[in-house]
Amino acid sequence: MSEQVKAVKGMNDILPPVSARWEWFEDVVRALMRRYAYQNIRTPIVEHTPLFVRGLGEVTDIVEKEMYSFEDKLNGDPLTLRPEGTAGVVRAVAEHSMLYDGGKRLYYIGQMFRHERPQKGRYRQFHQVGVEALGFAGPDVDAEVILMARSLLRDLGLTDVRLELNSLGQPAERQAHRAALISYFEAHQDQLDEEARRRLHSNPLRILDTKNPAMQALVEAAPKLMDYLGEASLAHLAAVRAALDAVGQPYTLNPRLVRGMDYYNLTVFEWVTDRLGSQGTVCGGGRYDGLIEQIGGKAAPAVGWGLGIERVLALIDDAGIEVPLPVPDVYAVLPDASALGTAIAVIEALRAAGVSVQMHAGGKDGQGSFKSQFKKADASGARFALVFGGDELAQGMVAVKSLRDAAIGQRLEPLADVTGWAQSLRGNA
Ligand code: ATP
Ligand code: MG
Repeated sequence: MSEQVKAVKGMNDILPPVSARWEWFEDVVRALMRRYAYQNIRTPIVEHTPLFVRGLGEVTDIVEKEMYSFEDKLNGDPLTLRPEGTAGVVRAVAEHSMLYDGGKRLYYIGQMFRHERPQKGRYRQFHQVGVEALGFAGPDVDAEVILMARSLLRDLGLTDVRLELNSLGQPAERQAHRAALISYFEAHQDQLDEEARRRLHSNPLRILDTKNPAMQALVEAAPKLMDYLGEASLAHLAAVRAALDAVGQPYTLNPRLVRGMDYYNLTVFEWVTDRLGSQGTVCGGGRYDGLIEQIGGKAAPAVGWGLGIERVLALIDDAGIEVPLPVPDVYAVLPDASALGTAIAVIEALRAAGVSVQMHAGGKDGQGSFKSQFKKADASGARFALVFGGDELAQGMVAVKSLRDAAIGQRLEPLADVTGWAQSLRGNA
């Protein structure tokens, strides 16, 4: 026997019945997007590497160490599996001049790739839902996207996820803050870890994002960007806060919230839980007014977020939230293979009428005993068994037996009028 081929480390198969939870989640997402009038966008999983290097920033965790990059075999082009969704959406928006007639509100669902150390809530292939509102400069749309995430979490039944908010101001304000940060960290060189020392002059803001516990006190006391914001930035933040207050959404102002990519400005936010350890950020986003221009498009303001599906589903598990799992309405029992012709015609008519039917399929040794078929019918979770027995068929009838409610028992329905009784079998009828 040859050696068994396994999935790549950190990349998971999503198998039934768990995949049904994913489908449920995606249904909730799509319903939400319709309510907020966001349109779906689907971009390739592979992009030119410079898109991410220029878009996310050279001195970021993702670009420095997490990207799956390779060369195109034919022309040597550097390519990368997308580590996040925003850069690709922005590329597509610019490439197709999608903003020519005004702003666009978009969403995506899909897999992302980052070469991280796999652990609970952190994988090498993971999935995100993301929204991007492009072409809108005002704080109103910042509030809208933040509240969309709130609605999504609520629709999923998650109530204890809290909101953290910050403003990263504008580039000039960050520049002044950056100078102050460098002086501060220079004065405390001895307390910096190796990574921080390396980033001290290239990207000191990133030091604030450190996960090293030994540096928390130092980072806590560092100069705050908030103290460097000008009037316009403060007004933008105030307007977002006022909108959140208006709908009664609490939040914590977290001056240390800097996010993992360089493209953000003004509003940044995260939805955070205490239940997933250091993988507690389920959704993160913010404004990125400079990104489109950065990757060569016509400048346009934008704001969005990305939400980690694995983490949200883990939260749903953890909170014991019941997810409705689909079961067939009907399990079709065929005591004798000779009934197949009649049975399959009835089954197809039922399916065409919207009834979900799992048909018993026999092996090469026949249908299996009546008893074993009923065992399978029970295990399927179906509410009814449709029994294509020889005697009933001879009378032009099929037996419908309730599998969940003995009081209902069994009744006969005419083969000639399937549409007449199909609706009575539907779960949502
Ligand atoms: P973290 O600080 O946990 O590494 P991040 O800031 O790198 O998160 P983002 O780039 O903002 O994360 O991505 C948005 C969301 O995607 C995160 O809030 C998280 O829910 C999810 N996510 C990010 N990386 C992973 C991963 N490796 N595996 C699973 N989910 C992830
Ligand atoms: Mg990360």
